[in-house]
Amino acid sequence: MDKDIQSETISNWARKDNIEQALMVGMHGITEFKHDEKVYYLGEFKENVIRLLSQQQVAEVVIYPEIIHALKDKRATKMIINGSISIRFIEKYEKLARKMHKPYIVRSEPEFKGSTGLMVISDEAIETQIITVEDRSVRLKRLGMPSALINAVGKKVCKKCLQQILEVDPAEESNYNELTLLDRIGGEHCPAHQGMK
Ligand SMILES: [Zn+2]
Repeated sequence: MDKDIQSETISNWARKDNIEQALMVGMHGITEFKHDEKVYYLGEFKENVIRLLSQQQVAEVVIYPEIIHALKDKRATKMIINGSISIRFIEKYEKLARKMHKPYIVRSEPEFKGSTGLMVISDEAIETQIITVEDRSVRLKRLGMPSALINAVGKKVCKKCLQQILEVDPAEESNYNELTLLDRIGGEHCPAHQGMK
């Protein structure tokens, strides 16, 4: 993103925050509470968050399907990404947002706190009870996938392993490739069987 646009966005946010604060002081006198909340949600109100990933989850190889799902939500208006995360990790989500025609903003403020990495935001208050997403590895382990296969994400695996993966979660298909005969001749192995025969 263009540097000027980005800094303009940040100052817009700061300005908006001030207006909102002023309104809230007048109406409810709860400005400090709301401001505290916003530093944990990259400058947004928690009630507007549809889905949230931690910084660690954004740094994973895969794109979380929960975010794709959230972007499809009619109430979703934008994606906010924590600018303190390395560009090589956030690129895949920027690409996703462009593909799904949703605007995204990379935002960094020194006062941001917590582990929020990325959010899908609505302009209206969302009645979502759970906005966080279970770690992919935790979820797949719970569903019975062996760790060796979970960790082989993005790699080529044997046909048998690929079948096993699809049995656990068909949506994981896009995260793996099948070893070809040529790969095998070239000396590649299924990472799930390393050390075994
Ligand atoms: Zn295998």
